[in-house]
Amino acid sequence: ADYVYGPGRTHLFVPGPVNIPDQVIRAMNRQNEDYRSPAVPALTKLLLEDVKKIFKTTTGTPFMIPTTGTGAWESALTNTLSPGDRVVSFLIGQFSLLWIDQQQRLGFDVDVVESEWGRGADLDALEAKLRADTLHTIKAIAIVHNETATGVTNNLATVRKLLDTYGHPALLLVDGVSSICALDFRMDEWGVDVALTGSQKALSLPTGLGILCASPKALEASKTAKSVRVFFDWKDYLKSYKIGNYWPYTPSIQLLYGLRTALDLIFEEGLENVIKRHTRLATATRLAVEAWGLKNCCQKEEWFSDTVTAVVVPPYIDSNDIVKHAWKRYNLSLGLGLNKVAGKVFRIGHLGNLNELQLMGCLSGVEMVLKDVGYPVKLGSGVAAAAAYLSNFTPLIPSRI
Ligand code: PLP
Repeated sequence: ADYVYGPGRTHLFVPGPVNIPDQVIRAMNRQNEDYRSPAVPALTKLLLEDVKKIFKTTTGTPFMIPTTGTGAWESALTNTLSPGDRVVSFLIGQFSLLWIDQQQRLGFDVDVVESEWGRGADLDALEAKLRADTLHTIKAIAIVHNETATGVTNNLATVRKLLDTYGHPALLLVDGVSSICALDFRMDEWGVDVALTGSQKALSLPTGLGILCASPKALEASKTAKSVRVFFDWKDYLKSYKIGNYWPYTPSIQLLYGLRTALDLIFEEGLENVIKRHTRLATATRLAVEAWGLKNCCQKEEWFSDTVTAVVVPPYIDSNDIVKHAWKRYNLSLGLGLNKVAGKVFRIGHLGNLNELQLMGCLSGVEMVLKDVGYPVKLGSGVAAAAAYLSNFTPLIPSRI
């Protein structure tokens, strides 16, 4: 039996990797090239300029590294910090936990601020720490903008405000893996020092590019940061930018052409429209969840994520069965509950290249699965709630007006 292909399209609704647009797949279907020819540096130069737009930075320096989000984390940390440096980090779900684990293994002194899973970063605790830290022992604040495991979005503007209020010079390092290019993200305005994402999330590319932007302050810090780094050293990139060949080592040619097309699609739609589309699809999803009589893992509206919704199931249902069954019967991929919320939640990823009717397909699939696993769902209830909302708020396709 072939486990991958069935008739029609797979409904891929995990919060990354996400659906790749056909145009991007076609753009990547090409031969390798000599990356030292003039063509690849020319392509790269423009890509570097254009990725800054999705971070909303004009002063940041971008790095595109052949890696994943985890590598981008490591690059952000090792280029700006020295072993033993105090880092305040927020534990709110599996991805913030993994980043904290990496920070500890790299030898930083991690001051962990923990919240219940389903809640946002405890910014009152941050305020207390900043107020007390008159000697400026905190070298960095590390925060995951959107915790993909629980569907919780942290308020970065408030973090910046707190740093400014206390005149604190700590670097602000932000994981934007499941936010950048989907949620409102403002690197310059929020004074983010390093922001990072991975290609397989909202950019809707294959996995394999870690994309970072470093503020002038972060670049300055990299000149004295003592963490050991080789593959991830920004210095090697900066040197190749200066020479004009742009790559210290071999990039994936296909991913670069894919990124070109992915950015073209995003700019054609308009970044602000992309963000609004994510809000619309997320709102429809949340209305469906409510209509099913289920709870959002995210406890407060102020933290609701517009890229992923973690849905809490009743105690008599194992959420792993929902995910397994959705895949086996309907060719629908949903996200598992991770670690503390394993078995308790399943996740609907609604990010990247996705439209209203694709989402409706997913929501109707979830309803059928809920019925199949014995949850007393009224078929059509979530779909009706989402449809009522989307039929009011889906804009006309601009090219067809
Ligand atoms: N950060 C967040 C918020 C994520 O959601 C993920 C992956 O899902 C990662 C980091 C790790 O990224 P990767 O799996 O590309 O290394």
